[in-house]
Amino acid sequence: MPSGLLLQASGVVKKFGGLTALDGASISVPQNSFVILAGPNGSGKTTLLNVISGLYRPDGGKVLYQGLDITHARPYERARLGIVRTFQTPRVATKMSVLDNVIFGHISADAPFEFGWARREGELVEKAFKVLKVVKLDHMWDRAAGELSGGQLKLLEIARALMADAKLILMDEPGAGLNPTLAHELFKLMRELTQRGHTLLVVEHRLDIAAEYADYMYVLYNGRVLAEGRPGEVLSDPRVVQAFLA
Ligand code: ADP
Repeated sequence: MPSGLLLQASGVVKKFGGLTALDGASISVPQNSFVILAGPNGSGKTTLLNVISGLYRPDGGKVLYQGLDITHARPYERARLGIVRTFQTPRVATKMSVLDNVIFGHISADAPFEFGWARREGELVEKAFKVLKVVKLDHMWDRAAGELSGGQLKLLEIARALMADAKLILMDEPGAGLNPTLAHELFKLMRELTQRGHTLLVVEHRLDIAAEYADYMYVLYNGRVLAEGRPGEVLSDPRVVQAFLA
């Protein structure tokens, strides 16, 4: 695996019965980059994210992370290596405070290894405040998560990933349902996270906005990579335009 790469998925094949969702897809994700996974509906984006997070076992191909072959690693093993997946609909406990959601998101991911909770409580609270500050939600720390707006819930989901010491954050359509101003703010924050040592691989449809902030883009089509490169160049590639129209 070339140095500077955090993740390399090569020749990934995933079949569901007779349907081939991924047909030899290969992507490389450099350390501290913001990479977009784009493509029309059904092109295999979410399936690739699920293979990388360990939710699905591939039928072929390899996934390397920090040079380690994780193709067959369990999801919790990947989480301990710093691979954290967020979801389109944030999974929060609506009656719990924002702060507790950040802390307990972390505890449950780590539960079997957690001892001496009381001793660590102070540390965890301090860390939770730090990550809430990074996502600019610290002023909301004592509010119930159910009171947050759609955009703030996405920030909370990112805060939980940071609390879990995520190195590689896998995100499924974070921009969905946000107005353009909030989408700009969210992608800008994601860009800032790359300067704090995080790497983001993001399935996204809001390409006009996300393209301004991302370093690199892959376009999947029929389970393979159709185009890759700087987002501006990829989006003006006639094959990509055609794929989105088809
Ligand atoms: P995208 O995220 O690009 O919209 P997906 O990865 O969700 O595409 O899906 C790729 C193809 O695989 C689609 O044809 C979809 O219907 C199929 N697929 C995805 N997940 C499953 C599943 N769990 N069972 C059966 N087919 C699936």
